[in-house]
Amino acid sequence: MQPPLLSQKGARFTESVIRGMSVEARKYGAVNLAQGKPDFAAPQLIKDAACEAIQADNNQYEITWGSQPLREAIAEHAGWHLGLKVDPDTEITVVCGATEAMLVAMLSLINPGDEVILTEPFYENYWPDCVIAGATPRFVRLNPPDWTFDPDQLAAAFNERTKAILICNPNNPTGTVLPREQLQLVADLCQKWNVIALTDEIYEHILYDGHKHLALATFDGMHDRTVTISGMSKTYAVTGWRIGTMMAAPKLTHAFRQMHDYVSIGAAAPLQQAGAVAYRMPRSYYAGLAADYQERRDRVCNALEEIGFGLVKPQGAYYVMADFSAFVPGEPDDVAFAQHLVRDVGVAVVPGSSFFNHKPLGRRFVRFCFAKKDDTLEEGMKRLRTLRVMV
Ligand code: GLN
Repeated sequence: MQPPLLSQKGARFTESVIRGMSVEARKYGAVNLAQGKPDFAAPQLIKDAACEAIQADNNQYEITWGSQPLREAIAEHAGWHLGLKVDPDTEITVVCGATEAMLVAMLSLINPGDEVILTEPFYENYWPDCVIAGATPRFVRLNPPDWTFDPDQLAAAFNERTKAILICNPNNPTGTVLPREQLQLVADLCQKWNVIALTDEIYEHILYDGHKHLALATFDGMHDRTVTISGMSKTYAVTGWRIGTMMAAPKLTHAFRQMHDYVSIGAAAPLQQAGAVAYRMPRSYYAGLAADYQERRDRVCNALEEIGFGLVKPQGAYYVMADFSAFVPGEPDDVAFAQHLVRDVGVAVVPGSSFFNHKPLGRRFVRFCFAKKDDTLEEGMKRLRTLRVMV
């Protein structure tokens, strides 16, 4: 017998379901409402800045932890947007997307046997992050229809092995925006159990109906035990640029910068130059972004409800988890339903179970992404209107 070629960790992964659905969408000519990537243009100002940077020969490595002008712009933005005072010299690391940020944080913090609390459903990368870093995930449920956690269940997940809790806020895939009381509870538990909070705040500007984004790092006692993760992807519609940000106290930042150096050295230099322009966009840009997304959310959610899906409108981020059980006579099967949608109806979505550790919890849901042009959404909804109860 040949010894297995793959490492034990490598053998545990399967293909990203989200990316797999994008492949299916291309194969069947379906409207891609699966992967969370805008199909509309990024702001002209930042595209020009990126082109200028390349023309000016900004083509070599930047300093590993991010260019000085970009870190200064990130600190300014965090100041007015989050009310978070961060030192660009000692508390910011620029990495290749929020994805690298989360991995670098875990690799820097986790020892074998450490537990990391995840809320479930969760963005699909977090479980592989735990596997790579050697953490044991512990799940706390977000309960439908409004996708909130039960405070007692959250408290019960903490113990002496807990090293970190991962909070995605605004939440992918549920769209929940955590109110002050719930964040306070997280803050209290982190301090009680000496736990680090890893906050994925990549959707920080995509908020609806007057919901406010609160950064856990600004809560009393949390500055030194919170790793605030975000990036340019969603705020500036540049998911392919891979510019992620980590803000943390100097001791943590020092460790993250070293880890990041060995993982990827640095994020793309010319795009960092454009990033320094992006983070200084006028505040009206961010208000416009949220207003545009709110229109998309309303259009898509109203159409989905009319067609027969069950949902609670998201408070933030650009996804909606929709209950499709009205379309199937027996036990719902999200994977079969998503396959039917992409092949026969021409719309790609993500099967709900891919966001759950306990798969049965996701069986009646599919996730729609509405970060798309009006025409794309229009065509998607037109196709969905042909949906009939499956027999
Ligand atoms: N964050 C995006 C999503 O949730 C993209 C993820 C990905 O490409 N795997 O859809």
